[in-house]
Amino acid sequence: MGYVDLHLHTTASDGVLSPSEIVRYAKAKGLQAIAITDHDTVEGCEEGLSEGERIGFEVIPGIEISAEHSPGSMHILGFFLDIHHPLLTERLKYLQKARAERNPKITEKLNRLGIDITFEEVLRASGGGQVGRPHFANVLLEKKVVRNFQEAFDRFLKKGAPAYVDKFRFTSKEALHFINEAGGVAVLAHPNTLGMNGYSELEKLIVHLVDEGLKGIEVYYPEHSAAQIVQYKSLAEKYSLLSTGGTDYHGMEKSELDIGVGRGDMKLPYSIVQNVKAVRSRSLSGR
Ligand SMILES: [Zn+2]
Ligand SMILES: [Zn+2]
Repeated sequence: MGYVDLHLHTTASDGVLSPSEIVRYAKAKGLQAIAITDHDTVEGCEEGLSEGERIGFEVIPGIEISAEHSPGSMHILGFFLDIHHPLLTERLKYLQKARAERNPKITEKLNRLGIDITFEEVLRASGGGQVGRPHFANVLLEKKVVRNFQEAFDRFLKKGAPAYVDKFRFTSKEALHFINEAGGVAVLAHPNTLGMNGYSELEKLIVHLVDEGLKGIEVYYPEHSAAQIVQYKSLAEKYSLLSTGGTDYHGMEKSELDIGVGRGDMKLPYSIVQNVKAVRSRSLSGR
């Protein structure tokens, strides 16, 4: 039996390979199954699924949702979602709309600070791609409002600065709700980014998330130390949660990270997929 990778990005979010390319790449590398888990979208799943069907390779439709959390960041994976589920579709549309409103809000804040800048200028600076704060910084630099890029962030754009606008995020409760409603299995991604202070704080958070519908923990992840893997695995076992894993491969990594193996010899067994499937059918039949 081959091995699996349940955390991958494609061009549907910030990955380099298209969904078809990543499916073909995974098969060529000798994997047995992958999950496509783009940030806040399922737009790459359809293409990945049909390419998988065409070449005879198992593809799991998935997603990675950013949830509200501090001090670190919380990402929640969803596996085997019905990608056409009405609630999921509606929530992801809402998210896109909220994100699109962010840039005009930054413009407004800058205007209120007395800076002459229009959203059209920022759009032009982006060259038609996705607009972000670096494009605001470039326009501020062009207009000589600031002397350099860093100053634009420090004085205006960074978190806590007067033109900062928070990125919209769902609460964990909302994210877990719509993943579950869409028939997905929700798994806490890379717990090492949560910024939790010690085992008991993390445990408390996990108990809370389980209450909200969490079904597993991404135990195996290239950035997890051996000690963290032991810790996350024991938490998963203690609360009867799934242990999943993946490389978070985005294509063309700087640091020798590759699909399926991470930075070394990750090679997760197919039984992980079987366990996810078992939890999924249990929760579907329990409805
Ligand atoms: Zn993530
Ligand atoms: Zn990711």
